[in-house]
Amino acid sequence: MRLIYQMTALLALAACGSKESVSVRFALQPIGVPDLQLSDINEILEEFNQRSGSNIAYLCFQDCTGTIEFIGRRSDAVVGLCEPSTYVRSKSRFSMKAGLTQERKSELRADIKLSSDLMAEGNRDFLRTIIFHELGHGLLLAHSPSEQDVMFAVVNGEKNFDSYFEQVRQKLVQLAL
Ligand SMILES: [Zn+2]
Repeated sequence: MRLIYQMTALLALAACGSKESVSVRFALQPIGVPDLQLSDINEILEEFNQRSGSNIAYLCFQDCTGTIEFIGRRSDAVVGLCEPSTYVRSKSRFSMKAGLTQERKSELRADIKLSSDLMAEGNRDFLRTIIFHELGHGLLLAHSPSEQDVMFAVVNGEKNFDSYFEQVRQKLVQLAL
């Protein structure tokens, strides 16, 4: 009887305190990226950070959270891919003052794949739009039905980068719980 009582009390404590935080880190290890594209990609990621008012995306050579990789041409004409993932750490803490607290930290990460077609000179603007698009997926943004949006499924024509970065900034505020 006493044991049951204690277990109930513990469950009640577990439910009462929980802390949750979400961060974003796209520390991208380059795979198969020649030097010329490396500096292009670096500039593109810097622009992304600057315009989104964050410092979440960068090339990484140690302790990376994801990859940016050139892959061979695909038969389905897909030129960019993003595999977003969430890395979750959770731990329980007990203190006499606060009782049992559950702490959950999630980090959004991404693996980005780009078609080797984009390595050709003259494709830098295209590469930039595609990297922004894929980083958007990394932030869990969905496709947009509007052709001028960076998050439109097809990357062609003029894009509205201002509205894209507005969306990214909103998402980052929303994620910082
Ligand atoms: Zn997409």
